Amino acid sequence: MSDRLLRGVGVSPGIAIGPAVVVASALPDVPHRVVPRSQVEREVRRLRAAVRDVQRHVGELKERAALRAGPDEARIFDAQMLMLEDADFLGAIEDLIRENHLTAEKAFEFKALEQRDAWMSVGSARLKDRIADLNGVMIRVVRHLMHLEDEDLEGLTQPSIVVAREVFPGLTVQLDRSQVIAIASEEGTRTSHAAILAHSMGMPAVMGIQGALGRIETGTRLLLDGTRGTVLLDPTPAEIADATARGVREHERGVELERGVSLPAVTTDGLRVALRGNVDLPEEIDAARAHGAEGVGLLRTEFFITGHAALPTEDEQARYFARAGTAFPGHPVVIRSYDLGGDKFPAAFQAPYEANPFLGWRAIRVCLDHPELFRGQIRAVLRAAADAQIHLMIPLVTRLAEVQRTREIVLEEGQRLAREGVRAAASVPVGVMMETPAAAVLADRFAAESDFLSVGTNDLTQYTLVVDRGNARLADRFTPLDPSVLRLLKQIADAACAAHKPASVCGEMASEPLSAFLLIGLGYETLSVAPPALPRIRWLVRQLSRQQAAATATAALAARTDADVLEILRAGVAACGVDPSLL
Ligand code: PEP
Ligand code: MG
Repeated sequence: MSDRLLRGVGVSPGIAIGPAVVVASALPDVPHRVVPRSQVEREVRRLRAAVRDVQRHVGELKERAALRAGPDEARIFDAQMLMLEDADFLGAIEDLIRENHLTAEKAFEFKALEQRDAWMSVGSARLKDRIADLNGVMIRVVRHLMHLEDEDLEGLTQPSIVVAREVFPGLTVQLDRSQVIAIASEEGTRTSHAAILAHSMGMPAVMGIQGALGRIETGTRLLLDGTRGTVLLDPTPAEIADATARGVREHERGVELERGVSLPAVTTDGLRVALRGNVDLPEEIDAARAHGAEGVGLLRTEFFITGHAALPTEDEQARYFARAGTAFPGHPVVIRSYDLGGDKFPAAFQAPYEANPFLGWRAIRVCLDHPELFRGQIRAVLRAAADAQIHLMIPLVTRLAEVQRTREIVLEEGQRLAREGVRAAASVPVGVMMETPAAAVLADRFAAESDFLSVGTNDLTQYTLVVDRGNARLADRFTPLDPSVLRLLKQIADAACAAHKPASVCGEMASEPLSAFLLIGLGYETLSVAPPALPRIRWLVRQLSRQQAAATATAALAARTDADVLEILRAGVAACGVDPSLL
């Protein structure tokens, strides 16, 4: 069995059994063929007809996705549409056919690969989504010209497991949940954005599987275990029976945990913990509610951006924020302003080249440099806040001036809306994401300057340990249990407490039961969690005592390695009567 077992990182729990659909293998070998001069115009016509057909097809995919997941998510296809309408790009392909007498498919492949290489040589993470879209367009057009069957994920006829070298957030959003039952990829880690999405969507996923594409072909039967982080090829009936039994046990445990979703998250010694949900996609609002979320601790707004051709309008945003707000009466919904940059820019956004985009023009920096963009989002937040408890949170903050300027803009827009007679709140609470070492070190000042703090442990860990959160090769170095991160977490909790400001944790760490136990011990009384993880965290809170959690946190802070911290946490939950292997 060991030669059939591939190991990676389980980024979203659950078991799935089904045939593989390998996404990256879809570009066929295009034969190099020249056509006689007399047929050159025929090739140009073939090219134009193919582009038209593919445009129509992508339009249909968009409609189907809109019916399935709503118009916002369907906009993921806009970037591909834009490429199929790009007159310069298509004109260059026609020139190539006319000058070199190439077939339409060869010319298209040549130009698309040339463009892809140019983007790849830039080495910019932010072009990743665009490269994925270009790949998608190239594969569709070339396959169509070669009369090959479409290996479209939308056209799947049986529940399948998507296998890819790298899964981009755009692809994750695009998946038809009724036919795609799990994801396996070579790249990616627990905190890469596609992994966070898969987890929020409750889709089992294993990432960081070295050599997966060399071993798996479309049609290979797979047994994927997102809890253990494994993919088994061609499972035997006995292995399937064993996994199914485990799946049934996990499911039963899930059902049992679900029963407790409306119970208050109170520790055995009376500490009330607020459990909110992280919402990345509109459809997760319902999942968060169903799992008993007390509001939303992190409403990511990037789905409006990834893979899209343009930014959303103020009205679109206001409608979405209002929908989220009214879904949780009596509870706050924390809207995070655009975390643009890094690998997230809409296709039409003119972003400059940067050698290190994760250390570059990102998040609040982009927003403050583009007031029209920021003000539109803030106006949408204020409008939604007229009828709901809406808060605003700003990401990747490193300077106090960023908070001060945001507050000024919120007040200015509140006044402007009032002058315009638009129904809106005059202001909203403004919180700071604590996800840079700079913010953590100055936590006391940020606590004084803002209305609340929320720790983004994904980025805080990345920037403190200098480990790319999406790099599978460094996955074992990426741990928020590192003593350095723990100290910062403690410092932030203490600073918030001293300033009488609420502090929460919204990074993936809060969704992990042992870490959630630690966070409560460090003094965090609000956790924002991936919706599928809410029932387990709620159950855990109800088993533990604050006193034991605090004692465990003190011991963890004195530990010298992340492995020691993990041992201490296991012993701590055991002392609360919880079997750590159940978590
Ligand atoms: C974080 O960095 O921990 C966080 C919650 O934000 P994101 O994962 O969207 O960067
Ligand atoms: Mg972050």
